[in-house]
Amino acid sequence: MSAPQVLDFKNAEEVLKEYDGRDGLSVTELMDAKVHGGLTYNDFLVLPGYIGFPASDVQLDSPVTKRITLKSPFVSSPMDTVTEHDMAIHMALHGGLGVIHHNCSPEAQADMVRKVKRYENGFIVDPVVIKRDTTVGEAKALKEKWAFGGFPVTESGKLGSKLLGIVTNRDIQFVDDDEMPVSKVMVTELITANSGVTLVQANSILAQSKKGKLPIVDDKGNLVSMISRSDLTKNLHFPLASKLPDSKQLICAAAIGTRPEDKVRLAKLVDAGLDIVILDSSQGNSMYQIEMIKWIKKEFPELDVIGGNVVTREQAASLIAAGVDGLRIGMGSGSACITQEVMAVGRPQATAVYNVCQFASRFGVPCIADGGIQNVGHIVKGLALGASTVMMGGLLAGTTESPGTSFVSREGKLVKAYRGMGSIDAMQDKKAGGGAKDSQKSNAGTARYFSEGDSVLVAQGVSGAVAHRGSIAKFVPYLAAGLKHSLQDSGMTSLEEMHRKVTEGVVRFEIRTPSAQLEGGVNMESYEKKLYA
Ligand code: GDP
Ligand code: GDP
Ligand code: 5GP
Repeated sequence: MSAPQVLDFKNAEEVLKEYDGRDGLSVTELMDAKVHGGLTYNDFLVLPGYIGFPASDVQLDSPVTKRITLKSPFVSSPMDTVTEHDMAIHMALHGGLGVIHHNCSPEAQADMVRKVKRYENGFIVDPVVIKRDTTVGEAKALKEKWAFGGFPVTESGKLGSKLLGIVTNRDIQFVDDDEMPVSKVMVTELITANSGVTLVQANSILAQSKKGKLPIVDDKGNLVSMISRSDLTKNLHFPLASKLPDSKQLICAAAIGTRPEDKVRLAKLVDAGLDIVILDSSQGNSMYQIEMIKWIKKEFPELDVIGGNVVTREQAASLIAAGVDGLRIGMGSGSACITQEVMAVGRPQATAVYNVCQFASRFGVPCIADGGIQNVGHIVKGLALGASTVMMGGLLAGTTESPGTSFVSREGKLVKAYRGMGSIDAMQDKKAGGGAKDSQKSNAGTARYFSEGDSVLVAQGVSGAVAHRGSIAKFVPYLAAGLKHSLQDSGMTSLEEMHRKVTEGVVRFEIRTPSAQLEGGVNMESYEKKLYA
């Protein structure tokens, strides 16, 4: 018997060409529902490629709408236990986006939008201004309301009037007499700059002045705008912050429903500076949503509209034809959600993401993979299947920046509340007209999961708690670093390259059998799962 022929090792790359196609499955083979059925993120893996670059070189820029691109593809969900202004600010500072929930009065939601838009600035073109007989007590109340305490004082108490002085924290902090007019404590010797100064020049004057604020005045000494030292520091510390190209303010998104009163709500949000609106519906392919999209596009052409949720090509086609700038994909895959169980409608998330993204990409409409993200691997898979960004609820609900405070569970673990927006709890709050933390109870937004006339509430979500995770400031950079390493493993230098090479069949996949899923997990008697340090 002759020994099998051993090939020359130098020919390994040549011999590879003799094979029919690449190892593993193309995305179309993977997603053949006739063969594999509907898939979830856990049902497959991405095969590794060639690493020819450091993970730090991987680019995570990705569009969230036709016009707006983020530096990190992470979006927080519009849920009342996930995104209020604090989450929205910190998601944006780290290159992502927070979508402010609407389980609260329109005024409360608009206030949150305003806080996000005011958080960071170049020129503050509409600073809060006071007059000389404003009292110290009133100034303190303004500070409480806005979370900043530097107020220019002008003749009329308005912008465009003669600048008399400035009141800052230090001037009022230790004044006990709340009735005292601010004219008694304001600083009147001011360093100012003339209107026409560029932001770079103004920043340099501010840096040299050692002051916290630089008021900008016209040639008659009337206040026209202001810049703040803390914005220089913020810009330095958060290089990834989500801002529009010609703006120094953070990008802000918010969700609304599709009822007539949502049009009034939206006008308030736009007035507060909203950049992106998400039409929040569990089944987005409806006459209400289509009418709403067309109305918004006509009424607020500058505002980007994300429609959804959708899970099929047909649903996506309706909303794309109506003019959406982005789509949100997912039905029943959320961690607090029981839609598939109760309504028997929905779709496994990986299959939904692939089918919708594949269609929407032909129209240049970016998609958000919403729900079911439990770890970095799920993020990678959602993006590999064509999503431009991922939306997370449960994963972010445990962070410091989500609404509410952490508490110790019955099992002795530190947790934070998390509830589906279709849970009985959330729906009853909505009926009462308030969100988790909303003190301004009034008629709340439209119902995502039930109609006003319904006498029986049918839950599509549950209410409970998730583990406390610490701050977004550590967690989001962890997600980004994990994602970069994963892209590096598959040999992709950017999300754009990943999308292209998945479509071309270069990036390959493998189905994961139930025992493969077991094999991929930890198999030890006891262990501690620490994800990042
Ligand atoms: P950027 O740093 O990427 O925003 O670059 P730009 O060229 O747009 O910034 C122009 C100048 O404005 C530079 O001196 C920046 O440091 C400064 N700058 C950028 N963002 C802010 C901000 O939010 N506030 C202030 N005051 N200055 C900023
Ligand atoms: P202050 O010294 O208490 O006024 O506050 P900081 O200097 O710590 O921060 C002020 C922050 O609030 C900056 O990021 C400003 O851009 C932002 N901001 C937004 N609108 C206004 C405004 O009308 N007045 C002031 N003072 N700050 C504003
Ligand atoms: P998670 O990241 O927790 O897996 O999923 C978050 C997503 O679940 C949300 O963005 C939203 O689309 C969806 N969701 C939130 N609340 C409910 C609910 O009560 N029922 C259903 N079906 N989905 C929900």
